[in-house]
Amino acid sequence: MSHLKIEQGRLNIARQIASPNFNARPEQTEIRLVVIHNISLPPSQFGGGYIEQFFQNQLDHGKHPYFETIRGMQVSAHLLILRTGEILQFVNFNDRAWHAGRSSYLGQVECNDYSIGIELEGSDDLPFEEAQYQQLSQVIVALESAYPKTKKHLAGHSDIAPQRKTDPGDFFDWQKLRQLLQQTRAT
Ligand SMILES: [Zn+2]
Repeated sequence: MSHLKIEQGRLNIARQIASPNFNARPEQTEIRLVVIHNISLPPSQFGGGYIEQFFQNQLDHGKHPYFETIRGMQVSAHLLILRTGEILQFVNFNDRAWHAGRSSYLGQVECNDYSIGIELEGSDDLPFEEAQYQQLSQVIVALESAYPKTKKHLAGHSDIAPQRKTDPGDFFDWQKLRQLLQQTRAT
């Protein structure tokens, strides 16, 4: 069992930060997939609060050359797990966040319609933090309880958009996550 709770589409321990980048899921859509991503701004640099600003369309694009390359992008995820393990929620789970882009899972396109997107603060070239795995496994088991169709449907962004995306990357330890999930479900 997870020690986290989800009520009315919100994770109880998450710091709630509203992103304007969401809309309604198509009617009668059951949430049935969890997608794992990584993000860091600038790439491979952590802290600074730039991801939060980006998801709120409030990033100062003059602050770094990389930020110019993402000007005008309107994206979000339901959750962001920082390096410390702190969890931020930008979009209610019952709404459609804009994290997957053009994508397909088991032949079903437009994963944003029916998935929950979780960003880990990280990059393709660095290991993730223990605290992030711990929190991620707790979150996923809580999501399985609130949205039972997500059970056994866990994918990386690179799995659902293999031509375009590489995250969460080779440093993401799927085996470790699966072990933590088993432990969390069993206790
Ligand atoms: Zn991604």
